[in-house]
This record gives sequence, structure tokens and C-alpha cells, in this order.
Amino acid sequence: MEYYIGIDLGGTNIAAALVDGQGKILGRANLATGAGRPAAEIAADMAHAGRRAAEQAGVPIEQVSAVGMGVPGTANQKEGVLEFANNLGFLHEPIVEMMAGCFPGKQIWFDNDANAAAWGEYLAGGGRGADSMIAVTLGTGVGGGIILGGKLWNGVNYGAGELGHMVIDQNGPECNCGRRGCFEALASATALIRQTREAMDNAPKSLMWELCGGDKRMADGKTVFEAAGRGDRTAAMVVERYISYLAVGITNLVNLFQPEIICIGGGVSLAGAALLEPLKQIVAAGDYARDSSVRTEIRLAELGNDAGLIGAALLGRR
Ligand SMILES: [Zn+2]
Repeated sequence: MEYYIGIDLGGTNIAAALVDGQGKILGRANLATGAGRPAAEIAADMAHAGRRAAEQAGVPIEQVSAVGMGVPGTANQKEGVLEFANNLGFLHEPIVEMMAGCFPGKQIWFDNDANAAAWGEYLAGGGRGADSMIAVTLGTGVGGGIILGGKLWNGVNYGAGELGHMVIDQNGPECNCGRRGCFEALASATALIRQTREAMDNAPKSLMWELCGGDKRMADGKTVFEAAGRGDRTAAMVVERYISYLAVGITNLVNLFQPEIICIGGGVSLAGAALLEPLKQIVAAGDYARDSSVRTEIRLAELGNDAGLIGAALLGRR
């Protein structure tokens, strides 16, 4: 039996798992990140969480072949350096060496957290068995990962796969990156919530007010789908417009890469068929290769937050 430790380093939480060769999680541990501390201290806690996950699974650390990390920033794999992680205040941290010191003799792998999550879905979730897959995660931002010919595409300096910053409306809302109308500025969960609240302002009788107890700050990514499902017209219009934005970005990806699978994850994907079915229809009608007999399949992600842990653990399979 092969065993791996996967670690997902977030801005607030360090999650760790003991994973087998099939991508099954056998043990878990969590610790607070304590952002703002030196990288070496955080790395020591990551190692601690990894060991606890192995303990919880009852697997002696000697039987663990490798340790993989998903990190929130640019993972320079040639040098083993986490170049830049904004929410941790990290700049050029030799995180692989730090982790190797905590796990003598073991192989250490790392990649950007979005890539790790894409890799997890590819190996053990919505992309199982495919040759090419693009993961699109609709969360606070829009993240993703590009897997072509069984390999994660990192780019010339490990910054590839930033699907969220593809512009889909040059006159659209400002994005954190400094451009306007990025995919993320229109199709993230954050954008959907903003669109929901704006629509509520213009529709005092919408069911959405009732669903969030009269306080639009309580509206989240689910509110609009629930209201639309119960026949609220304003909500249905918000959903329709949101999916049309999403479809522009997804169609661009289909036209650029024609992957076997596009795997949609993140909080908004929990809307399920109400999101997926209309999205598929719009993409199918606009896809440049729409007359082709073999088409890209759009699917929902299967692993939720575990994708990042499983993908990190199995990064050695890249
Ligand atoms: Zn942007």
C-alpha cells in the first residue's frame, strides 16, 4: 500500500490528510495558520498537521512515501520556493527545503493551491480517466487549473492557469487585478452575491428578501438559486444573466483548449443542475467546434474542499 501526506495551506487554516494511492483520505488534521508568523514556523505546523493526519489514520510515518503541499501563491518548482503569497506575507520562501527538514528522506512536492485542487479532481474526481481537463472553481474568486496530456500546465514562470483574469467584458466591473470585466469579476460567487443584492434593491417584493430575513447582507450564493427555483422572476433573471457570463468564459476555454472535460467546482457549483444544464446549452450552441462529433463535456466537481488535499498528496504523479 502506498501512502502520501497532502497539506493544503490556506490564509486561515492548515488542512492535512493522509491519502492512499487511489486518492482516498484515511486521516485528517487541521491547525490554524496564524498568518503573519515566519514561514519556518508555519512550515513546522504544516508538518505537525501532516504527522497528526498519519497518526489518525494509524499509518506509521515510515510508510509515507511523499509529502505534497498546495500553497496560496506562486510555486517556483525549479527552486522549491514559494515566490509570493499575499495573504501570508511570504516573499521568496524556500518552503520545500523547510518541509524536507521536517520529513527527512521523504520526497516533497508542491504547487499552487488551485492547481493542486484541479489535480485532485483530475485524478480522483470529475476528471477521472480523462487525458485533458480544465478545472474552474467558482468561489471568492474564479480559480482553476489546466491539465493537458496528463500534465498540469504551470507556465514559463509558474503563473499559468489564472482563468479568473481572462477579460470577458472590457467595460465590466473592476477586478482586483487592475483590469475590468475579468471572468472573476462577473462569475465568481462574490460577483453573484453582488448581482443578487443589486437586483434586490430594484425589487422590493422579490422572494429573495424573505429568504434572507429582510437583510440583503444575509443574501449568499444560494439565495438567488433558491428563489429562482421557487418561481421568483427577479431571481430567475439574475441566475440567467450570471450563467450567461459564466458561459462566455467557459466557451472561451472550450474554444482555446477543447479539453475532454471542464470540471466546475466551488461554492456556486452546489446549485447543481440549475447551474449546469443551462450552462451546457449555451456553451453547446456557441462552441466553435459545435459540428464536431466529439465535444468537451462540462461536469460538476465531485470532491469539494478535499480536492486540494488529495491533489497535493498526489502531486508526484504530474
Ligand atoms: Zn482580473
